[in-house]
Amino acid sequence: MNQNLYSLLAAHFPKDSAAPCMILPDGRVWTYGDVERASGRVANLIAALGLKPGDRVAAQVEKTPEALVLYLAAIRAGMVFLPLNPAYQRHELEYFLGDAKPGLFVCRPQARTLAAELAARTGVPHVLELDDDGRGSLIEAAAAHADAFATVARGSADLAAILYTSGTTGRSKGAMLSHGNLAHNARTLHAYWHFQPGDVLLHMLPTFHVHGLFVACHTTLLNGSAMFFEPRFDAARAMRLLPEATVFMGVPTYYVRLLLDPAFGRETCRNIRLFVSGSAPLLKETFDAFKARTGHTILERYGMTEGGMFTSNPYEGERRGGTVGFPLPGTELRIVGAGDTALKAGSIGSIQVRGDNVFLGYWGMPEKTREEFTADGFFKTGDMGRQDADGYVVISGRSKDLVITGGLNVYPKEIEELIDAMPGVAESAVIGLPHPDFGEAVSAVVVRQNNAAGAALTEASIIAAVKGELANFKVPKWVYLVDQLPRNAMGKVQKNVLREQYSRRS
Ligand code: AMP
Repeated sequence: MNQNLYSLLAAHFPKDSAAPCMILPDGRVWTYGDVERASGRVANLIAALGLKPGDRVAAQVEKTPEALVLYLAAIRAGMVFLPLNPAYQRHELEYFLGDAKPGLFVCRPQARTLAAELAARTGVPHVLELDDDGRGSLIEAAAAHADAFATVARGSADLAAILYTSGTTGRSKGAMLSHGNLAHNARTLHAYWHFQPGDVLLHMLPTFHVHGLFVACHTTLLNGSAMFFEPRFDAARAMRLLPEATVFMGVPTYYVRLLLDPAFGRETCRNIRLFVSGSAPLLKETFDAFKARTGHTILERYGMTEGGMFTSNPYEGERRGGTVGFPLPGTELRIVGAGDTALKAGSIGSIQVRGDNVFLGYWGMPEKTREEFTADGFFKTGDMGRQDADGYVVISGRSKDLVITGGLNVYPKEIEELIDAMPGVAESAVIGLPHPDFGEAVSAVVVRQNNAAGAALTEASIIAAVKGELANFKVPKWVYLVDQLPRNAMGKVQKNVLREQYSRRS
């Protein structure tokens, strides 16, 4: 049987091809029939350009229905899709194009000159354009092609996409995901989160990332249901559309911003059956505030580019704040210490996973791939955490963010939680900074709330508050008060940026 992911999705498209798939901000609707026909035309175009199955199709475009269609067309035609964050500039782009060597690069018209120059330099044969309104030479050229396209047969181990990791802790690497990886995760999440006929997803995530492109779109397409397809998160738009939606997926920042609007509450969420959060840790405080305001318990899940979702809080049963729930069906998860030996429940160690959703390896980096897998096939996620006796998994942070001070391990999250609970603190990030005696010194970067308690915070008051609560080696040596923390597009705090910024000062 054809294992092409598109065939799996299309098998679940509604019988009525006039059923809505994407509802746009201006009210226009893309039906499932529109999606099939448009992806057929683009797939025909890609094939006519001479690309062969397995060739890469790179896209650095805004989130539009046409951009999603380009993704579907690429996998339909057996190509490997490579989405790129529109924020990437010359240096990053040159690396990605040179590394992945796509047969086609689709860019925004404003990047035309740069794209042509880099394509010539890195040997990319075709460049087409797609603008922020879904127009451009890609769509014009595709218009000359037939709607019908026989989806190219693919095996489950064949590549479907390469997603470059966001690289908050090092050089970006291309995670190779197969049709089987994506199909497995799509099916699992669709079932685990109880997708049902008539669901309407409010889609405000970017589509160059695993969360917005795979988790959100695949569950919806597999469900044959509709999504509000918004170009980006906007709290006012969310307020307007949430009452018409049944499912919302967001990064924690979205939930924080929704709570800032005093009008946001039960009424706004009256039709929602599921709020999902992930891609970065959801503060317990946000989880609790959201529940108190709306009556909804946010379902937090954990995963990464290298395999989609690994764990989820349950749909039915207790969704426990501060945890990411249980390993998903089909994913084995273990917490290990030195020598990859499994630790007992409740101990913090390195998180490793194995399963059909786990990626094939890093593009063009066989050595790196070998390093990141154990002999028995577990992937070393680079995250630290624990699994409690009743199965709930708690993430403590990236192993590279672990602070080692005077030879002792300090998990930033433990200190961040204490500082975050202080009156006047909005949030904090704990990092290790070079220190002549300790190797690294525990340091806290703290964002104050815009109120009297926030204004009263000082380095000394924060250190004093932590002192009585934690062993001395965990108490921050230095505290920096700032207006905001640097975050990437998925809301992750960029601790590498903080380390660099404050290392020079210390
Ligand atoms: P990305 O590959 O960009 O999706 O980033 C994956 C990383 O995000 C993981 O390795 C975790 O460090 C982090 N992450 C994702 N979901 C969560 C979560 N629910 N809680 C804490 N960290 C998370």
